[in-house]
Amino acid sequence: MQDIDFGQLPYMLFADQEGRIYDHPYLRMAGAIGERVVAVHRRDLIPLPEFSKLFYLPDCPPIGLNPKTGRFMVVDSIEVDGRMIKPCAVAAFLEPGYVRTHLPAADYDHRRYYLPMWAYTAVGISRNDEYLGAGFQIEYCERWDPRNFDDIELVPAIEAYRSEVCSGTLVEHLTKCAMDHHCFAAKNLFLQRWEAPLPVSRGCNAACLGCLSHQPQGLFEASHDRLAFCPSREEIVAIAVHHLQKAEEAIVSFGQGCEGEPLTESDLICESIIHIRKQTGRGTINLNTNGSMPAEVERIARCGLDSIRISLNSARPEYYRAYYRPKDYDFEDVMESIKIACGVGLYTMVNLLVFPGISDQMEEIEALIGLVRDTGLNFLHLKNLNIDPAYYLERMPSSDSEAVGMKKMMEILKSECPNLELGYFNQPVKMGIRR
Ligand code: SF4
Repeated sequence: MQDIDFGQLPYMLFADQEGRIYDHPYLRMAGAIGERVVAVHRRDLIPLPEFSKLFYLPDCPPIGLNPKTGRFMVVDSIEVDGRMIKPCAVAAFLEPGYVRTHLPAADYDHRRYYLPMWAYTAVGISRNDEYLGAGFQIEYCERWDPRNFDDIELVPAIEAYRSEVCSGTLVEHLTKCAMDHHCFAAKNLFLQRWEAPLPVSRGCNAACLGCLSHQPQGLFEASHDRLAFCPSREEIVAIAVHHLQKAEEAIVSFGQGCEGEPLTESDLICESIIHIRKQTGRGTINLNTNGSMPAEVERIARCGLDSIRISLNSARPEYYRAYYRPKDYDFEDVMESIKIACGVGLYTMVNLLVFPGISDQMEEIEALIGLVRDTGLNFLHLKNLNIDPAYYLERMPSSDSEAVGMKKMMEILKSECPNLELGYFNQPVKMGIRR
């Protein structure tokens, strides 16, 4: 911490139990890398992007930095407007395209709940009343810019789509996704542009700690409704063909937050792709998957898939197993799927669910470099993992490996893997990459 001028750091934020947010009169913002509470260097702070969100963490006192002593302190009580309150820590959720560098500094020991699934990020406030979050922008993409998702256009677009293009149970489901869950991909379907979703699966062969659509233990709420039916091939094909033919930078993707694992429906996916490609060669057909079944990945690829995005929380088997809790496959199957995908010429992406203090450990970075070199991976997404920070850390194996910081991790990957693209969003397959 020698090179940090504590007096220049932003002030700590806190909230009362009703969620009103205040800035502390003198304590400075702290952050956390894994379980380690640290000062957040100015170079890791950005003005909070406009479409970020602020949260308060009930019953979790904030931890601030005393600029005079350089010591961190848990703030259990504080006076606000003449009364003593028990303050709660405040966190931010960064706009898509930004990678979080620090977790919020909070004492989680006395709460009796787990936080819902968001990527909680350290946040403070400057002397000029500007919110500053801990992160950096890894990719800007117009196609996922929240400013381009104005719902005023959506309702008439849904009505027009349903009367003029296609209607059925899958369109009904995606209407709910667009209207109730504000899924950008579902909105794109009706706005007839960019990447649209093709959810197909009800079941899964993993039990991820942070699964968005299935939380059987009820520790926190699933944020998406899991698909409850199997769509017909005819409806999938009709939706996909229309989208691929009409949309600019068109992608259709199997594997969404509102379903299980699409590889469990590999027959349906294969048949659908064959029928789609009989009608149009335009656009990208993509599969987002856990990559658990290498033989099915190869079969789907040979039917005409263009790109694949395989999700991982770690390139280390023990960390992978602790998060995914695979039922009838193992880490090695996922590695095999990545190799096969690259080998058969799919544009191959890994969706790495990143978490400061785990993903930036040197052991992890070395494992990732090994993965990229062994497979020839094209693109690595650095996607903030949406999960209660303490819940995740409690369940990950311990390690003495030094965490070097998320920015440093990115820099090492860039210099060690010069052909690897780093970013945040699915890419339409470019001419020359598709083989
Ligand atoms: S692989 Fe996907 S659907 Fe399956 S448990 Fe994990 S997050 Fe949920």
